[in-house]
Amino acid sequence: MKTLNKPLAPGGTVGIIGGGQLGRMLALAASRLGLKTSIYNDTADAPAFQVTPLATAGAYDDLQKLAAFADACDVVTFEFENLPAHAIAHLGEHVPVRPGAHALAVTQDRLSEKTFVEKLGLKTAPFFEVSSADQAREAFSRIGSKAIIKTRRFGYDGKGQAKVASAEEAAKAFESFKGAPAILEGFVDFSYEASVVAARGADGSFLAYDPPENEHENHILRRSTVPSRLSRAQVEEAKTIARKIADALDYVGVLAVELFVGRDGALLVNEIAPRVHNTGHWTIEACQCSQFEQHIRAVAGWPLGDPSRHADAVMENIIGAEADAWEALARTGALHLYGKAEARPGRKMGHVTRLKPKT
Ligand code: AMP
Repeated sequence: MKTLNKPLAPGGTVGIIGGGQLGRMLALAASRLGLKTSIYNDTADAPAFQVTPLATAGAYDDLQKLAAFADACDVVTFEFENLPAHAIAHLGEHVPVRPGAHALAVTQDRLSEKTFVEKLGLKTAPFFEVSSADQAREAFSRIGSKAIIKTRRFGYDGKGQAKVASAEEAAKAFESFKGAPAILEGFVDFSYEASVVAARGADGSFLAYDPPENEHENHILRRSTVPSRLSRAQVEEAKTIARKIADALDYVGVLAVELFVGRDGALLVNEIAPRVHNTGHWTIEACQCSQFEQHIRAVAGWPLGDPSRHADAVMENIIGAEADAWEALARTGALHLYGKAEARPGRKMGHVTRLKPKT
């Protein structure tokens, strides 16, 4: 078992599980710091494989392949959190894994995540465990009006979720999940959504980015804008929320906390992402140290970089066939395309960030 008690020197190798756009942008940031990246992905056509020669295609539960991958890395991190817990534990026997298995276990299950957040004294939507159709009816009657039922694991971009307006609808939606355990949440009539992207270093140091305001369309992030409408006090509160979560998880790396901003100004935690996040892509152009560089710095044991923002920014995702207009988009701002061959509907193909002088 390797250890990493001091900063990983240039020339070292950071392993990244997951080869999507987040892995790709992490690899690009690492290479600027003189670090190599080795990417592990479950298919051979990963966007991140295009930017590093060290690429392994293998199943996420192929323990032998994962071990060989880990043995060639100095530290391993993730760009997505839905990995089997036993595979993470197995990796941890070979190489330091940052963030660790505990942070992933807590955040990959909506019930354990919300319970953890509540125990820290932070606010969330009311929620109930749902493991049967009867429990779904019962939970709905306790919430009383509109609710959202979500599978506990493996949901993203609105998948494994349904809005329900009656106990019967809640039971039906649960049955459509084919037995997957779920939670039922009260529907929050929020004013808008925001998020805080922050980093905790291997030495416990903590730095947060300015929280963006986020707009979704069809459950997919459309746009992140900084500055947000949050007041100075709310910005500080959002950063404190992220710090409490990161400290309690003994977290190393970048994490994102998605927030609902209530009509009364309250900040409710919706979800924790134990990784770099789509709502932090604007940091590439608008901050001295991007979220991707920051994550690499943290997992490599380096000092954290300066997250301060030197411009106002709007980041817009390029979804599905919108990428066909790449030439026109290239004229409008900083264009990022992820190298995905096929523009399926709802697929994130790239993003564009537009800067304005800081207000
Ligand atoms: P999630 O997968 O939990 O991040 O949810 C995806 C999106 O669904 C959120 O960004 C919100 O726009 C919406 N949503 C999720 N949960 C709730 C809730 N309890 N009340 C209102 N809207 C919600």
